[in-house]
Amino acid sequence: MPQNDLIASVFRQEVRALSAYKVADATGLIKLDAMENPYTWPDDIKASWLEALKDCALNRYPDPEAKALAATLKRLNQLPDQFELLLGNGSDEIIQLLLMALPSNACVMAPDPGFVMYKQLSHCLGLNYHGIPLRADDFDLDVPAMLSAIEAHQPSVIFLAYPNNPTGNLFSEDAMLAVIKAAKGLVVIDEAYAPFADASFIDRLDQFDNLLVMRTVSKLGLAGLRLGYIAGSRAIIEQLNKIRLPYNINILTQISADFALSNKSLFDSQTRQICAERAGVFGQLNNMDGITAYPSAANFILFRTPKNQADSIFASLKKQGVLIKNLAPQGGLLSDCLRVTIGTPEENKAFLAALRKSLAGH
Ligand code: PMP
Repeated sequence: MPQNDLIASVFRQEVRALSAYKVADATGLIKLDAMENPYTWPDDIKASWLEALKDCALNRYPDPEAKALAATLKRLNQLPDQFELLLGNGSDEIIQLLLMALPSNACVMAPDPGFVMYKQLSHCLGLNYHGIPLRADDFDLDVPAMLSAIEAHQPSVIFLAYPNNPTGNLFSEDAMLAVIKAAKGLVVIDEAYAPFADASFIDRLDQFDNLLVMRTVSKLGLAGLRLGYIAGSRAIIEQLNKIRLPYNINILTQISADFALSNKSLFDSQTRQICAERAGVFGQLNNMDGITAYPSAANFILFRTPKNQADSIFASLKKQGVLIKNLAPQGGLLSDCLRVTIGTPEENKAFLAALRKSLAGH
């Protein structure tokens, strides 16, 4: 059978229609495209970490429930006893397994623009995805539009990233509450960027039966470990646990994350540094002719370039050795938009200088 016929006969149409999620090659570039923490650890902490890993049993399967790590995460998040946690290989995996548990004709909803995996994974699983445009002036939730879409489509799951990626803002609390109250299905508050924001819904879990709060250690400084978690009622987490692969959190991640989170003050000081840099980069961006930067509660900043120049500015930055994210191809509210992750002071300086040069060249 020719390969094309084989592919068509084996794979679902929605899978064939998708493109794989592309990650840009950052070799040799200043990497400000993926919301990573630019800082590593001092040598003494690295040495203690390696010591902690030394005797781990690589020949054995890891604890399928990652009990020690889960207990640490519960303690750090001050999660009351009546709630449960499910751990994932990054929060990406949690989004995937939550969607895998839905009926085949289910509807999934999220604001648009939003984190692309909600849509990608919904499409991949053949679910009906509805992206509801944010307000154009301030990127806040369009509550009337959200409420009428909820009424019309009865979504099984609504994702609200708080702060939102790629816009960087926190939606207003009233708008969030209106959506949570109107939803008849689950509402997942995706707090991937919580370390940089002074806001969370984790202490409201007891107010709403349909609420889940998802977090990750990726943006905090542990993106390489691949660890995310979601908190919610025992009954909901019990269902999700049936979909989870038994050993989804490997032993190196279990030990390393537990070790790292016991040194949380290190991350807290890195986070403070990133937030201080964010304020500086924001001010400098908004001082540049033709650039509008949007306020951010995350570790990145979305900014708008002069009309039809985003692609060439992005290319020029790359040529000067700085990789950021070009969002202009997504169109809509992101036309002419680029997104930069906050790096070290030196990286940010290099980015700002390269951007000034690109703008002068236009
Ligand atoms: N949620 C949001 C809003 C994100 O921006 C990201 C990563 N960019 C994730 C979840 C996934 O994070 P991870 O899989 O690294 O935990």
